[in-house]
Parts: sequence; structure tokens; C-alpha cells
Amino acid sequence: MNREGRPTAPQGGALSAHQTFTGARALQVEEPLIFETGRLDVTGVDVAEPAKVTSRLGAFERKGSMGLPGLSEPEAMRHYVRLSQKNYSIDAGLYPLGSCTMKHNPRFNEAMARLPGFSDVHPLQPPSTVQGALALIDELSHWLLELTGMQAVAMSPKAGAHGEMCGMMAIRAALEARGEAQSRTVVIVPESAHGTNPATAALIGFSVRAVPARDDGTVSAEAVKAALGPDVAAIMLTNPNTCGLFEPEVVEIAAAVHDAGAYFYCDGANFNAIVGKVRPGDLGVDAMHINLHKTFSTPHGGGGPGSGPVVLSQRLAPFAPVPFLQKNDDGALAFVEHENDAGEAQPFGRLCVFHGQMGMFVRAFAYMLSHGSDGLREASEDAVLNANYVRVGLADLMSQPFGDKPCMHEALFDDEWLKGTGVTTLDFAKAMIDEGYHPMTIYFPLVVHGAMLIEPTESESRAALDLFIATMRDLAMAAKAGHVGRFTQAPHHAPRNRLDETRAARAPVLRWTKPAPATRAQAAE
Ligand SMILES: *Cc1c(COP(=O)(O)O)cnc(C)c1O
Repeated sequence: MNREGRPTAPQGGALSAHQTFTGARALQVEEPLIFETGRLDVTGVDVAEPAKVTSRLGAFERKGSMGLPGLSEPEAMRHYVRLSQKNYSIDAGLYPLGSCTMKHNPRFNEAMARLPGFSDVHPLQPPSTVQGALALIDELSHWLLELTGMQAVAMSPKAGAHGEMCGMMAIRAALEARGEAQSRTVVIVPESAHGTNPATAALIGFSVRAVPARDDGTVSAEAVKAALGPDVAAIMLTNPNTCGLFEPEVVEIAAAVHDAGAYFYCDGANFNAIVGKVRPGDLGVDAMHINLHKTFSTPHGGGGPGSGPVVLSQRLAPFAPVPFLQKNDDGALAFVEHENDAGEAQPFGRLCVFHGQMGMFVRAFAYMLSHGSDGLREASEDAVLNANYVRVGLADLMSQPFGDKPCMHEALFDDEWLKGTGVTTLDFAKAMIDEGYHPMTIYFPLVVHGAMLIEPTESESRAALDLFIATMRDLAMAAKAGHVGRFTQAPHHAPRNRLDETRAARAPVLRWTKPAPATRAQAAE
């Protein structure tokens, strides 16, 4: 057997029920590393012998081969196609990850993003040659401000967490301008917050003061008031929050924060539940990142790409980072690239090398225009409707930590209902994989025991939701009936079964090393 538990030579049927000779699962073909299948003497292209040149590298010249594996052209094609098929994606099926908003990415957006005038521009091109691209950024900025009711927007942050950093740096710059940066060193963060919130505050040099969530999953103005003081720089509050609930006291919280001389940073990653319904600016928000890749449907996952523009209130607008767009006297758009050219404004500096994620801007803008204001509002309403449809469809079998009441765009369950079954939240999630579903978010938010956070998004049809609910109900009934075998070793049908996640995290094997020939011979026995 080799290291995958796969036979290396025919053994005539001595395989367990779920094993296959090739390691493939039905038409899901097993794919070794390219270093395992590639050979040094093979190449997919005929390249003429290079002309002899005298090396100028001296002692640095490579002595041996680089060891890059070679494959024939069809082998190379198959390798990468098979790898691509190992990705579960929103185009393959329902992707109910709560807090991540994995919604359909219309092909129209993709077509627009691939227009050469957007995809082929270079950030160092003279502004006069990219006026169309700049106009798109300008219009997108306009609509982001319109939808949020805010004063200014920094477009360059490249993800939600990066946007948080941008907003908190603007807050620090505002405090510096007020001469209070030394005294205001604390940021209030509710216990239910996304991990990026306290991480951002700490990264910028603030210390974090936690406020607990109430029994109903929301933050009380009273608890915030108790945490406020002359040492507080800001609060970072998510709304709708990570429990999928709208914070009912948000206006009172904002007023208290302002009265105490602090700023209100809103984590706007869940904006997709309220677009067109409420403007964060009207709630008293001073800074908020918008995850274009969640709210406006642009593709994300696996680490990128994202885009996290930050909208700012009147009080923070002057501190927005460079670059920002400006219309010159002749009507042409140009970036203000340097702090010295910013006029009245006092930019806190530059957040990243260039101007943001152009492809994501185009996709988000295409999504906005194709929906229109009524369509965007409807998308929010349908996201909330779909989440509640799933919630109600499961409520008699699965327990909800904050009672049987409406949620926003995601439905939250805990593991109370699994008590005594021998099945954990993790087991349940793994069994969903056998049924062809990417599991929902589990064990987040941390304030809920064994949390299962389901966000179906507005782009799922009723038929798709019905099948999902029926599958979840079947699994839930199986767990309650004691069919533990379906869960504890799940997934049974995936190419890899249950992994030792602790070992993978603590002792990751990040480098492939060629097995010694002797080991191979032993392995074949
Ligand atoms: C997704 C998310 C973030 C972080 O956004 P990234 O783009 O992944 O960096 C922050 N807060 C909440 C509530 C989120 O859902």
C-alpha cells in the first residue's frame, strides 16, 4: 500500500467496501501531485536547443537540474482539470456558509470584468488613458455612498479585514488630530464579534474591552455605556450581527459612543441583509467596510480576491488614505497619490501599493446596475426570507440558541438538540458532505455552543431550499434515532475520509519529499 492506503499492484479484490484500486471515487478521479507523476525526461512541448551563450552568472550558475516535473500535454491538461474539479464551488451547488455570503456570481459580471478596457489596464498607466476605468470607480463610489448614507469612501482596501484596518487607522488619525491618541487606547468589541474585529484593534495598537452579548444574542446599550469612558477610542460593532440578528439598540449605542467622544466602527460584512432598507449613516456609523465580495456577489473564497471599501462619516472623511479620486478643473479624473497633494484633507497615509481590486469593482458595479435600486432591495429581502424559510423548516428538529424568532440573512442553531446522541456539530457537518452539501459555518459565533450558522442567500430557489431542508431533516432524524455510524466517521463517500484536523494544524506537512526507493518497495508489500 502507498501512503494514501491505495494498492500499488493488483491484489485481486482484497479491498474494503469503500476502497478502490485507483483511489478514485466513481468518476472523481484521484490525482497525485505533479511531482509524483511527472518525469524529468518528458515535456509537452518541443523546444529547440538553446544557442550556447557564455554564462554571466559565475558561481551562481545552477549545476544540476531544477527537478521540475514534465508531463505530456494531455497529462498536464488532465492534472489541472482534475485539480479544478476538487473545488466545491457556488457554481456546483448550495454553499450555505454563514458569515461568508456565498451567492451566485452572474456571468454578466464576469463578462464585464473581462472587457479589455478594465482587465488589461495597468495601475501605472497615465490617467488620461484609463478615464473609463476611473469613471467606473467614481460611479461605484457614488453608489456606495448613496446606499450607506456616508460622506466619503476609501476604495483601496482589498478585503473586509483590510477595510477594518483602514477604518481603524482613520479613527486613530482623527484621534491624533484631536490630540487624544495617547489617552484613548481602548476599543470596545462585543464577545460575539468576528475574530477580525479584535485582531484589527490589537494590530493597530489598541487594547480590546469585551462586552457580553445578551441572552437574546444582541448587544445592549446599557452594557456599552458601562464600558465607555475617556479611554475609549471606538466601538467595533457588527450589524446585522454575527448571530444573524439586527442590533435593535444600535442608534442608542451610537449616540452613547459619540457622547463619550469615541467613534463607531461598524463591521458591514452583513450589509447584504439591509441594502436598500436602512442606511448605516442614519444609524450613526462613522466607518464601515463593505465586503463587495459578499454584498455585491463578486466571487471569493480560498483566500481571495476580495474588496473591502470603507465608507466614512463627515468626521472621519478627511483622514481617508491616499490614493483617492478627484475631478480636475478640466473634468478629467485623476488619483491624488500623495499626502502633500491632498489640500484640506489629512490622509492617514497609504494603505496599499495601488488603487484596489479593479476586477471586483467592475463586478460589483455590474451587479448594482443590473439589479437597480429596487432589485438590490429585493435581494436583501429575499436573503432574509430564504434564511427564515430554512430556519422555520428545521426549527422543530434543531434548537435555536435565541429562541424561535425571525433572523436576518442567516439562521443560527446550536447543538442542544444533539445532546445524548453521540453526534457532534462537526460529525453532522461532515455527514452533509456525503449528501453533496458544503457544510454550513460551524462553531462560530463562539458565544453559541456547537454553533451551526446557515446562510442560504437570496440566489437559491425554493426548490433548492426544499431539497436542502429535506436533507438536513433526514440527517437530523438519523442522528436522533441513534444512527451514529452515518456521522462519526463521515464523510464516507468523499475521496478523503475524516482528517485529523488537529494534527494537520499543529504539524502541517508543507513540503513533498521524494520517497526513498526502499520505502517504496516496502510500501508495495
Ligand atoms: C467576512 C467577514 C469579515 C472579514 O472579511 P474578509 O473579506 O474575509 O477579510 C469580517 N467580519 C464579518 C462579520 C465577516 O462576515
